[in-house]
Amino acid sequence: MPGWAVTLGRGLRGRCPRCGCAPIFDGYLKVHPQCAHCAAPLGEMPADDAPPYIAMLVVLQILAVFVVLFYKGIYDPGFFMAGLMLLLLVAACMVALRLTKGAVIGILLKVGLKREALDG
Ligand SMILES: [Zn+2]
Repeated sequence: MPGWAVTLGRGLRGRCPRCGCAPIFDGYLKVHPQCAHCAAPLGEMPADDAPPYIAMLVVLQILAVFVVLFYKGIYDPGFFMAGLMLLLLVAACMVALRLTKGAVIGILLKVGLKREALDG
């Protein structure tokens, strides 16, 4: 396995954290069972709840700023602008979810934590 920065970078880009040659994902979030190039066990990494948690934690910081400004009366986005911001927030969540899932799979592959180790 490469170093932490390379592993995380490859995971964030959706490439195999071990070799960087093949994609992690088969579609939007479905993970290939193993890397097509180096046979890294990508599908055995238990990246279950961590990616959505991290994605929401990051993206909701952006929303929190607007909520505070709205309740303080500093910013009133109006109906259409609020709808547009909501759509952008959903898009940001979807992008962040894919990025964090790749990064979490990279971390789990780096530390060698497989699903079978969690199941006992
Ligand atoms: Zn690989």
